[in-house]
Amino acid sequence: MRVLLVEDEKKVASFIKKGLEEHGYAVDYGSDGKSGLVMALDEIHDLIILDINLPEIDGLTVLRQMRAKKVATPVLLLTVRATIEDKVIGLDTGADDYLAKPFSFEELLARVRALLRRSSDSKSPVFTVADLVLDPASRQVFRGSDRIELTSKEFAILEYFIRNRGRVLTRTMIIDHVWGYDFDADTNVVDVYVNYLRKKIDAPYEPKLLHTVRGTGYVLREE
Ligand code: CA
Repeated sequence: MRVLLVEDEKKVASFIKKGLEEHGYAVDYGSDGKSGLVMALDEIHDLIILDINLPEIDGLTVLRQMRAKKVATPVLLLTVRATIEDKVIGLDTGADDYLAKPFSFEELLARVRALLRRSSDSKSPVFTVADLVLDPASRQVFRGSDRIELTSKEFAILEYFIRNRGRVLTRTMIIDHVWGYDFDADTNVVDVYVNYLRKKIDAPYEPKLLHTVRGTGYVLREE
């Protein structure tokens, strides 16, 4: 799952980013409304956490412009103002939920999970390729009747593959989606994780589903 965080207060931003990353989310970060809006319009995020008081363009304007451009990504608004009027304005503008500062990380995480569950329920609840099954809501993976335990990174990679089944994904696409834009590392890390995944979801089973596309990347499909 990939989250966009738009928040100008450095301390709050790094607290949220670190916490979410520890829970297996990839986090892209914008420190003002203008850069946040540009990233939001890419429509590559599963969720946007958007502060209202931002430099350049305020959060409500970012939200209004996103929705005007038909970007439907769920949005969790952050604010210091917690009056009923402000809450109504935020929700009317197209926010999916609202969290007043200060908040605990546990509360934020609960809201994030609820929003992601809601949006995955309204899309496709369960993904399958052959007898491989991934349920994003319960975060469970099965191959046939075997339940497969994955780490949060392995799960994030498999989820990206299965949501794009049949499509070749490059190492760079996988890095950007699973680790976030600012992850500064060798794309070899992808090969390492794909190997871990293969050992769990493919090695003991037939048919093989995760294929190497020489010189390009990987694809998940039934041949
Ligand atoms: Ca702010």
